[in-house]
Amino acid sequence: MFKKVLVANRGEIAVRIMRACKELGIPTAAVYSDADKKAFFALYADEAFYLGPAPSKDSYLNIEKILRVARESGADAIHPGYGFLAENAGFARACEGAGFTFIGPRSETLDEMGSKVRAREIMAKAGVPVVPGTGAISDPVEAADSAREIGYPVMIKASAGGGGIGMRVVEDRRELLNAIEQAQSTAMSAFGDPAVFIEKYIQHPRHIEFQVLGDSHGQLIHLGERECSIQRRHQKVIEESPSPAMTPQLRERMAAAALKAARSVGYVNAGTVEFIYSNGEFYFLEMNTRLQVEHGLTELLTGVDLVQAQIRVAAGLPLGLRQEDIHHSGWALECRVCAEDPLANFTPTPGTIRGYRSPGGIGIRVDSGVHMGYPIPPYYDSLISKLLVYGRDRKEVLERTRRALFEYVILGVVTNLPFLKAVVEHEEFQTGDYSTHFIEDHPELIESVKRIKNERSLGGIFAALSNTRSIAAISGAVSAYLKME
Ligand code: ADP
Ligand code: ADP
Ligand code: MG
Repeated sequence: MFKKVLVANRGEIAVRIMRACKELGIPTAAVYSDADKKAFFALYADEAFYLGPAPSKDSYLNIEKILRVARESGADAIHPGYGFLAENAGFARACEGAGFTFIGPRSETLDEMGSKVRAREIMAKAGVPVVPGTGAISDPVEAADSAREIGYPVMIKASAGGGGIGMRVVEDRRELLNAIEQAQSTAMSAFGDPAVFIEKYIQHPRHIEFQVLGDSHGQLIHLGERECSIQRRHQKVIEESPSPAMTPQLRERMAAAALKAARSVGYVNAGTVEFIYSNGEFYFLEMNTRLQVEHGLTELLTGVDLVQAQIRVAAGLPLGLRQEDIHHSGWALECRVCAEDPLANFTPTPGTIRGYRSPGGIGIRVDSGVHMGYPIPPYYDSLISKLLVYGRDRKEVLERTRRALFEYVILGVVTNLPFLKAVVEHEEFQTGDYSTHFIEDHPELIESVKRIKNERSLGGIFAALSNTRSIAAISGAVSAYLKME
């Protein structure tokens, strides 16, 4: 087993990884930027090493600095988390070159799956259904011919893309050439690679993904699916597992395709095969070669600690799990709690957390990287925490999620908590029959946010308390607050 693991990430996922290490008895080293000097993950680690200025390129994306610090720390393995360098093949190779184990797939796999164009080719060859589409576009006239064959609307996507960035839906030929040029320039500035391709735009689909886990001894298993169709700008907001659309037959077909996809690249470590699903058909979308943000759902249903599994497999140990050892029970839902204002077009709201109390009780797991007094920096993504709720069935989970959102207290910064509540309470969401268009199809969710903000919540009560000093004033403030409804 490793002597020490350096976590090359920040926020909630850095904490998540260190928790796994602590249970395994492995010391941890954190790295932090100027913006994260007092961050929880840096305090949690056994040791913390300063990287540099706040902007990611000077800190969490600076490979040279991270490796220098890793050497100094005496770590023998590096966990990249998600985002930042997690899917960077150059980083994985640099780690290996400098004598560290990269806790993730082989660097060739990162290369192969990091290019969506290449991944689509590999999957098509392996017999995994892919969305009808093209290779990298070089000639606009050819592209227009392909788009006509595929049938409008089509989507233009960056081959190196991620985080929902730079996708464009094109309705007809007139828009196509202009859109290709714009997509190429976005792709170049966001990912340093201008390659874009065309995919058929699937209308009202669901995003359903499968978790896989492989070791270096040839064992490869899947751990079931996660439904991630509640999205804003192609980014996940709420996820649940199992998928409300799933049937045993469909699960069998999709799991077989996910395993085929992973096997075709000799996948080792934890990975996720993302599919787009519509009317009984499903297509490979991409493979995320890392720990996924929403991995906790799978952990709740299976009891398998995916991060510990990642670490064991990276250390060359056998997985120790066969497919028949994996059993799912119950239902789980995740809300991504973010510092953003739903009433201001979800603009990020960095600032200092003045009051914090996370929900608890039966069936609640909160993965967070914050604490009272923590200034949420403006430099990174706005995720504050992940609220995971577990129950015996979907109905219980929805009721429990409403209860947890009532309890969640975050003061000092505006958050999307009321928006999450609006989604969970929405009739259509409650039926389970929804698509990736759910949020854009329901602008009335914003009206619900205004209503929910005025509903009784522990956040409101704590806010009233925090503005007062004396006992008398506190009881006055609370009764004034309670009369408000
Ligand atoms: P998932 O949320 O399913 O794990 P995402 O593709 O949304 O997968 O990415 C995971 C995290 O990494 C998110 O926080 C996202 O913002 C970030 N991320 C992924 N790719 C990029 C990228 N190329 N540039 C910036 N951030 C990225
Ligand atoms: P990223 O790397 O940014 O995560 P993905 O290819 O995984 O990109 O797509 C992200 C989301 O964009 C999907 O979950 C889906 O909602 C939407 N999307 C992507 N491709 C298509 C498509 N061909 N048709 C319809 N929606 C799509
Ligand atoms: Mg994706």
